[in-house]
Amino acid sequence: MEMEKKTLDYDVAIIGGGAAGLTAGIYCGRARLKTILFEKSLVGGLATYTDEIENYPGFETPQKGIGLMRKFEAQAKRFGVEFKLTDVKAVRLLDDGRKLVETFRVNYRVKAVIIATGGKPRLTGAKNEDDFLYDKGISFCATCDAAYYTDKEVLIVGSGDAAIEEGLFLTKFARKVKVSVIHDEGILDANKVAQEQAFANPKMEFIWNTVVDEYRGQERLEEVILRNTKTGELMPLKVDGVFLFIGYLPNTQIFEGLIALNERGYVITNEQMETDVEGIYAVGDVRAKCLRQVATAVGDGAIAAVAAEQYIAEVEYLRERLLSGEKPKLLYVWEPTNECCRQLLPTIEELNQKFQEKLACEKVDVYKSQSIVTKLCGQMPSALPAVITVVDGAVKDVVCTGLDAEKLQQLAQELVGE
Ligand SMILES: Cc1cc2nc3c(=O)[nH]c(=O)nc-3n(C[C@H](O)[C@H](O)[C@H](O)COP(=O)(O)OP(=O)(O)OC[C@H]3O[C@@H](n4cnc5c(N)ncnc54)[C@H](O)[C@@H]3O)c2cc1C
Repeated sequence: MEMEKKTLDYDVAIIGGGAAGLTAGIYCGRARLKTILFEKSLVGGLATYTDEIENYPGFETPQKGIGLMRKFEAQAKRFGVEFKLTDVKAVRLLDDGRKLVETFRVNYRVKAVIIATGGKPRLTGAKNEDDFLYDKGISFCATCDAAYYTDKEVLIVGSGDAAIEEGLFLTKFARKVKVSVIHDEGILDANKVAQEQAFANPKMEFIWNTVVDEYRGQERLEEVILRNTKTGELMPLKVDGVFLFIGYLPNTQIFEGLIALNERGYVITNEQMETDVEGIYAVGDVRAKCLRQVATAVGDGAIAAVAAEQYIAEVEYLRERLLSGEKPKLLYVWEPTNECCRQLLPTIEELNQKFQEKLACEKVDVYKSQSIVTKLCGQMPSALPAVITVVDGAVKDVVCTGLDAEKLQQLAQELVGE
């Protein structure tokens, strides 16, 4: 018999404890939102595997990835973020607009979800690959690791834009940049400009029709065995490092069917980090964007947290104020700079007094709460002032033409059944 899972309530769930998720946590915690952060392996994410981070602003000297991420974590904890070291299995939408975050033992019911699950570079699957990942010789980021290979010899695996462009970048540091390409001689997948530059660069050398068969070395990677895809011939190659550019896989499998992903599986967001589902945000490497770095992950995390905070406040205002209560409601949608809107304010006060037993009148300032109005009516009323009538907790009507004192009076009377 399946045991009923325990369900806990939080304001925000952050899925993923890398730079993006931790920053979202810092902002949510500081905004006093009850926040839980889920991390399935290592708090700090991908950046913890990086030996030195030189380009994150604020530090004159290179920082150990792990040290930098510990600071992020401590800061998030200081603001009261709770950490749960577990794998999120699924996110489901609940009827009341909240979301259910499912883990192995417990479900978490939350008002907003921030997805910060990052991604992973695609691996070749060759022998011993796991033994040399990241700072042991197999790298995935030329921007990050090129300086380490000054005057050394590296092998690039791949032939797309990333492989060739990052390869060209590496020629500024390395003595030799060899490129293992699976295709026949002369065929690359990269754009034409990059191809021409690469073929003209004396430091670049192409090894056609090859894939990696095995990695070898003591502590660090020393040798790669390439295999010719046509003849099967094995080709040992002494190298100081290998860069894999054969694709990057965002960790979005569990969100398929929930939110919109692009053709490569990245989460599509707008500038507020909103996905196509209200109250679900995506930040950092997992979203479709042009630069995947700690500095950009941090910006995303801050934006999403503030957007989530506003969303939660709006939903609460909507539910607890504008749509709540037994009495019907007359919501006066107005804008302070609009003279016509201002003229009718005393009438609203009068109606509030006159019908206070049977009707609640609320003023909704669109300057402050435009998105609340769009949430209520699906779109902005075509003219202001406007009146939204609410009966039994649901919008009944939106009136935005011919509004004057008399019309307001008439609407109020209709609502109270006079
Ligand atoms: C070798 C290397 C060197 C780099 N060097 C630099 C550098 O020098 N400077 C720089 O700015 N950037 C560098 N980067 C890039 C940088 O690491 C990333 O841009 C950054 O880590 C992105 O942060 P993130 O929070 O979006 O994702 P990640 O750091 O990938 O974090 C995502 C986290 O989510 C967790 N997760 C995934 N799925 C789930 C789930 N279902 N449930 C719970 N948890 C889950 C993962 O375990 C992971 O910890 C480097 C990257 C690599 C690979």
